Amino acid sequence: MAKQLTNNQIEEIKSLLLESKKNIEATLENISKDHDSLSQMDLNDEGDFAAASRDYNNDIHIKKQQIEELKLIEHALMKIQKGTFTGLCEMCDSEIGMKRLRVKPYAKYCIDCRSYIDNN
Ligand SMILES: [Zn+2]
Repeated sequence: MAKQLTNNQIEEIKSLLLESKKNIEATLENISKDHDSLSQMDLNDEGDFAAASRDYNNDIHIKKQQIEELKLIEHALMKIQKGTFTGLCEMCDSEIGMKRLRVKPYAKYCIDCRSYIDNN
């Protein structure tokens, strides 16, 4: 029988979630600031432009990932708020484990299910 997280553990996860949420929001804000300055920048030669658009594409990629992560964080925070956050895998109901949750507090699945999903 899988053990659900204790209230203390959930509190710990919650502060980790809030912490990463703050970091992501800061990253996203920095990216949009960068883009504002990019569009105001005077890009004189092609080299400048290529470098700037390479950064831009990279930022877009990071931005996408961060937005995905933010969604997962919001999802986890909502579950905590509703009292349905158990620390159990949403697929097989086994323990995700504090070790994994400390690294990825928004993890919905245990490692087995995660790798199953990734490989299928
Ligand atoms: Zn699982």
